[in-house]
Amino acid sequence: MKKLNRRLVKPVLFVVDFVMVTALLVTSILQTPVLVDVAVTPIVTSTSTQTPTQTPIPVPKIERVLVISYDGMRPDAISKAPMPNLLKLMENSAYSLTSAETIAYPSTLPSHASMLSGLCMQDTGIVFDRYFKYMGYSKGVDIFDLAHKAGMRTVMIVGKDKLRQLAEPETTDVFEIRYDEASISKIAVEEIQKDFGLMFVHFPTPDKVGHKYTWMGYSYLKVLTFGDDALRDILTALDDNGLRETTLIIVTADHGGHDKNHEGTVIQDFRIPWIIYGPGIVPGELTVPIQTMDTAATVAYALDLTLQPDWEGIPVYEAFGQTRLKVHKEYIQHPCHE
Ligand SMILES: [Zn+2]
Repeated sequence: MKKLNRRLVKPVLFVVDFVMVTALLVTSILQTPVLVDVAVTPIVTSTSTQTPTQTPIPVPKIERVLVISYDGMRPDAISKAPMPNLLKLMENSAYSLTSAETIAYPSTLPSHASMLSGLCMQDTGIVFDRYFKYMGYSKGVDIFDLAHKAGMRTVMIVGKDKLRQLAEPETTDVFEIRYDEASISKIAVEEIQKDFGLMFVHFPTPDKVGHKYTWMGYSYLKVLTFGDDALRDILTALDDNGLRETTLIIVTADHGGHDKNHEGTVIQDFRIPWIIYGPGIVPGELTVPIQTMDTAATVAYALDLTLQPDWEGIPVYEAFGQTRLKVHKEYIQHPCHE
């Protein structure tokens, strides 16, 4: 009996020793600063039948946000143009092509004011689609106010002069106007090289061509491919400067259109694409109703800026895989219509 015990004890002790030595070795490896990465790398065994260790991967911090608005881009035009770079981005994005809308007055200046401020048109005071200097800048607290106050470098590159009215000059460190997609993306690339906290890029041409030749026509779809080339250059610049992993990107539009206008007579005038890509975003189609004011709220949420109590916009929490604590009432077609 004793003999048997000794024979059993010896291998058991050996195993215990082996485990302890291994544990000490692993501990010492993990404590070595140069090998710190080992501690956060999930251990994947070579046996295919075993499940890899489910180590939670920390969500990288969002350090900057880029909002891209294609003027007058209908969501159903993206695949028809087609826009291969945007479609590729969408594979890893949360997106809505059927449930996002702009305000009651689906026009460039009022829509963009709501997009960047989270407010309805009556609160931004931007009630005309023209730049009236005497009316002042968009009222209320917008994301440029918040980001600039937080010490971020703010950049606005637009394709129409009137967009100056969207933000006070003192809140935009850089404000540039260029009139075609290639020139706009060239400036954007230069600004990406200098880094930024908040950047708004506006591509004007789909709207101009839609008014001239018709929405969804050959020319309209063709210029969207130019806008897609511009997106490719912007994404490449983010990659080249090592910024892509920490940048949140929202691609959207101010309004849609039909025939040669967007006066708000059909749903296609109001419907906008809403695509979000970046750290923490759960790819897939979004189901919640989205209003253009939610863009501002989502930017503020992502950059840890204060959500303003008077904003109509609500962060699109669903895009971050979170239960939406607050949603737009089902389904007021346009909350900013009252
Ligand atoms: Zn427009």
